[in-house]
Amino acid sequence: MSLELSSILDKLEKPMLIEEKTGCRNFAVIGGFDRYMVAWAKRAKEICFDEHLKELLCEMVRLFEGYENADLTERRRRIFQARNLLSQMRKQLKERMQTAELNQALLTKTQPNFEIVEMPEPQLPSEQLNLPNQNIMKVQPHDETKSTQIAQSTQRATQPPTSHSFAGPRSPVTSPKPPVPSDQSFVTSYQSPTISPLSLSDDVRYLKGVGPHRAKLLKRLGVETIGDLLQFYPRRYEDRRNLKMLAEVMPGERVVVQVQVIGNPFTEERKHLLITKVPVGDATGRAFLVWFNQPYMEKKFRIGQRLFVFGKAVQVFGHLTFQTPEIEEITGDANLQVGRLVPVYPLTEGLSQNFVRTMVQETVWRTIDRLTETLPETIRKRYNLMPLSEALRQVHFPDNEEKLEAARRRIVFEEFLIMQLVLALRKKGVKEHEGITFSVDGDSVERFIRSLPFQLTNDQRKVINEILADMQKPSPMNRLLHGEVGSGKTVVAATAMFVAVQNGYQAAFMAPTEILAEQHYRVLQELFRWHDFSIVQLVGSLTPANKRKARMKIREGMAQIVVGTHALIEEATEFHRLGFVVVDEQHRFGVMQRAKLIWKGQSPDVLIMTATPIPRTLALTVYGDLDVSVIRELPPKRQRAKTYWLHTSKRMLAYEFIKKELAKGHQAYVVCPLIEDSEKLEDVQSVYRHAQWLQQSVFPEHKIGVLHGRMAGYEKDEIMGAFRRKEIQILVTTTVVEVGVDVPNATVMVVEDADRFGLAQLHQLRGRVERSEHPCFCVLVADPSTEESRERLRVMTKTNDGFVIAEHDLRLRGPGEFLGTRQHGLPDLKLADIIKDVDILIQAKECAEWLVEFDPHLERPEHKGLRTKVEALEGGSELLRVS
Ligand code: ADP
Ligand code: MG
Repeated sequence: MSLELSSILDKLEKPMLIEEKTGCRNFAVIGGFDRYMVAWAKRAKEICFDEHLKELLCEMVRLFEGYENADLTERRRRIFQARNLLSQMRKQLKERMQTAELNQALLTKTQPNFEIVEMPEPQLPSEQLNLPNQNIMKVQPHDETKSTQIAQSTQRATQPPTSHSFAGPRSPVTSPKPPVPSDQSFVTSYQSPTISPLSLSDDVRYLKGVGPHRAKLLKRLGVETIGDLLQFYPRRYEDRRNLKMLAEVMPGERVVVQVQVIGNPFTEERKHLLITKVPVGDATGRAFLVWFNQPYMEKKFRIGQRLFVFGKAVQVFGHLTFQTPEIEEITGDANLQVGRLVPVYPLTEGLSQNFVRTMVQETVWRTIDRLTETLPETIRKRYNLMPLSEALRQVHFPDNEEKLEAARRRIVFEEFLIMQLVLALRKKGVKEHEGITFSVDGDSVERFIRSLPFQLTNDQRKVINEILADMQKPSPMNRLLHGEVGSGKTVVAATAMFVAVQNGYQAAFMAPTEILAEQHYRVLQELFRWHDFSIVQLVGSLTPANKRKARMKIREGMAQIVVGTHALIEEATEFHRLGFVVVDEQHRFGVMQRAKLIWKGQSPDVLIMTATPIPRTLALTVYGDLDVSVIRELPPKRQRAKTYWLHTSKRMLAYEFIKKELAKGHQAYVVCPLIEDSEKLEDVQSVYRHAQWLQQSVFPEHKIGVLHGRMAGYEKDEIMGAFRRKEIQILVTTTVVEVGVDVPNATVMVVEDADRFGLAQLHQLRGRVERSEHPCFCVLVADPSTEESRERLRVMTKTNDGFVIAEHDLRLRGPGEFLGTRQHGLPDLKLADIIKDVDILIQAKECAEWLVEFDPHLERPEHKGLRTKVEALEGGSELLRVS
């Protein structure tokens, strides 16, 4: 019995796949797909003795009775259900056959036999459908199974496929006979129809229709391999499930119809309006597609052309009309264009939406069955995630919203998981190294703190305690100190450096710019003035002789504290006994640069400082391998800058502001929008011109200085020194003042063309005037041209809270750019959205930590998929080895 049943299930499956692929139009079998399905399902039911299977078959019959009258959405749903039923039945049948085999082995019992009436093989009416061949399922068996399948097909009686030859199933015959030997092939050779498989590393040119030209276009979208295409996720989805026949369309309704152009397009003129009409129709009615003042639309249509039309239908003079509808020519696989949630991909000039859809579909079909699952079943169960192949299928061609959501969840989880695995491995790797165990002399630390010109805030004290506790542990410290602009991070770092030097180690302080390095150098000299520490500055602009001298001091151990820029990580810089590293990061150093400095010591303790507030969730991502300390509190009496936004026409008002502050003996910044790394000569000249203009026309009585990134180090020092000594009242500057520059007497800042700055940057800039007890101001001058830049300026005037600003920044810029994942040596997030998917992120983090505890080298066979993914990342193999 099972053999017969099994072969009938085969007969049910193939037409169903074809029907689905050809748009559920009841065309998959000549003579009626629905009748074919009903007949075979009934037939199967009759020869089946198992009650449960019988029930499933009944259900199947019900699905295809009335299929003809169901709309497309319903048809799709039924096919989907039928496929589910089919796979359930197969599973049960297999189990049953295994027990049957066992029984047979025990008692060689005779089996009943039934005469099977051959049904017509499904015929693909490809010409009728006008579909290119590639969209019809090609039954190209796998090589291994070729022989069996050929054998099988020769054994099948193929009747000419006419609708008359359709024979209803006969009633079951119950006379027992031994099984028909030839039928055995059905059991062993069951294979869903497949097209030759592709592997993920194959070039996209393996796909039909992709030649060198299209491959180049795809490359522009970041797609070079089959694997890339599989991960080329839709930008959005269009709900095109409401497919109707014209007769069913109600005016006012938004629908999809499938029509043919049935007459020549023409254009009428009415009241100075050119109205172009295209007559279309389907089997049930007619309609016009209408465009206004676009006579060229005429040329886009020709009689006989088949279209999907999306839009709102209206009734005009008794005619059903679609005004300026969306049109898609029916090309290729119609099922991809309509009757479902249709994926919409990012495109580039020269590639059509439907071409990309077809490519992706072919890719999905030809890879999905051979994909290795990356997540072991235990994880999938625990976090309720669908298998990878199902997720990829659904994310491209979702059955419904729920499936889509589940598919997204699965893919996002995996993206986060890989990222979190990297972070967890890094963290573990660092922790397991033997580091330095510093001893902390509480009294002398207390004396040092008392020598400061101010009282520490509670947050500063708390963070110092956290750091000192880490330093006393044998494992290396790897800590992020995260504190608002002006919250006083420098003294915190200085206290830790003080302890390191007392222990006989060197401490290094790396700053992102020379101005900052110079400032830190000055500040540290001041803070340590009661101690005879030797502090050395190492920056790129030192003369070669001075640089050599500085390096010698560092190498010989004469320098106890070294302050510098990137020069610190150059090869020529060797340390005698580096034990403590401070990186004043401000997002400018990547992991590799950080690592380079760390390698110069023997697992030194590391403190990374950043002033750009990071939303909590981000701290979990990019900095997920670090312990985090936060200073929220600002030193007492600090004032937040009142912020205004003026249009350029009101620029003079901004300068009035400056004048008022100068009259009180305060100082001012005027910031010009140049990005430090790309300061070009012409731009720099424009800064000078602006300064000159201000000097001559606006502030003739005041002294103006200019500061920009292309100045030599000593020039910058000179200008900053003069500004600090109040010899200069107004500093016209580029973003070199953005980070950390500390002149408390400066109370007003005017930012020119402020729309050209990012949010984080504006916030940093503003921090420069929030350093004193006096009221302070920030004036943004801009005529923003985009809504996004308007939004930035609005946010700036509304809040001074770094965390709120960071959230906005993240939202406006998107996570990729905000995070600089690449820079942090982390995998790209293609689908995951750090804000929206934060719940999944937290689960993935938990899962990663568990994995790293349980199987730190990802050696277990079920973790092979994950292992491969981590290894594919830069430095991934080392991570797995080390930890
Ligand atoms: P940031 O966290 O932005 O690096 P800094 O360390 O440069 O901030 O400190 C900003 C200013 O605040 C400096 O002038 C510093 O001397 C001062 N400062 C730091 N801590 C305190 C405090 N507890 N009380 C008063 N002023 C402080
Ligand atoms: Mg600072």
